[in-house]
Amino acid sequence: MSRVYNFSAGPAVLPEEVLKEAADEMMDYKGTGMSVMEMSHRSKAYETIINEAEADLRDLLSIPDNYKVLFLQGGASQQFAMVPMNLFQNGVGDYIITGQWAKKAYQEAKLYGTANAVASSADKTFSYIPDVSDLPISEDADYVYICENNTIYGTKFKTLPDTKGKILVADLSSCFLSEPVDVSKYGLIFAGAQKNVGPAGVVIVIIREDLIREDVLKETPTMLRYKTHADAKSLYNTPPAYGIYICGKVFKWLKNLGGLEAMKKINEKKAAILYDFLDQSKMFHGTVVEKDRSLMNVPFVTGNDELDALFVKESKAAGFENLKGHRSVGGMRASIYNAMPVEGVEKLVSFMKDFEEKHT
Ligand code: PMP
Repeated sequence: MSRVYNFSAGPAVLPEEVLKEAADEMMDYKGTGMSVMEMSHRSKAYETIINEAEADLRDLLSIPDNYKVLFLQGGASQQFAMVPMNLFQNGVGDYIITGQWAKKAYQEAKLYGTANAVASSADKTFSYIPDVSDLPISEDADYVYICENNTIYGTKFKTLPDTKGKILVADLSSCFLSEPVDVSKYGLIFAGAQKNVGPAGVVIVIIREDLIREDVLKETPTMLRYKTHADAKSLYNTPPAYGIYICGKVFKWLKNLGGLEAMKKINEKKAAILYDFLDQSKMFHGTVVEKDRSLMNVPFVTGNDELDALFVKESKAAGFENLKGHRSVGGMRASIYNAMPVEGVEKLVSFMKDFEEKHT
């Protein structure tokens, strides 16, 4: 068996221990005589799987009792619609535009009411996080929306915006469980699983109970109401059962590692290895303002398109996969999520050093 170092932005690398365990349990999950893929979501065995997944997630994030955890489908993109459909009371949302995903959410909200762009970093290709200490928050805003870690551009909010008393809604897809988070500061958090916690097909929503309303936008389909899923404990219909099972294994892996404080330290170490190299390299440069750098997604360029392409080609041949930057930005991007081992980043940097020597 030969595994590559996979720097994909998502779906992304998963812990090998988790994959091995899943492989061991594939034919016969704990004496049930079947795979979790073949199992009724109403069975006792599955009930234990989903309940443990929720309990472990609550433990990891110290989720307060007045928040519900939902395991949904439709990807993070479906949340771009569910958020305004369910949270609009005045029909107004204030959005901070820090990249394509925030912009898509903002555009989606416009289908259901008024979306205001209260700050943006579009002027410098989203290479920084705007000052969010004193924003022109709308008086009638139902919420303030951020994309906390910008997967494509490699920026991260290090301090949350002053929402002036409004509810904060955040897309944490690409930094979920990479470090501790104070859930009580948010009204709603959502994250697609396919970066840090599991396979594609699961989206996790953490929502304060008082925001789960009956009186949502009139046309909201049953499946797009948070209340539907909260009342049924994520089992209103068939959930993404196998994906939730893998997420549950990743939560246990994180707990065994020492939880999110321990994970954060490892993530800081990995990011420092890469950023320190980029900061002294004469060939490679990071594209993000230093204070706003993400621990998860690290975009970099040589400044020469041909050299970038050569790097992507040679790195692939050397066993480093998916280092090509997002099609909208070009250059390279290394996504170094939780499951990327320190060794993977060390080897990447060593490869970059050699490449630099060879091509200067
Ligand atoms: N938000 C962020 C921050 C993302 O990185 C992505 C996808 N890569 C999305 C939303 C969209 O996720 P999905 O494909 O699950 O709809």
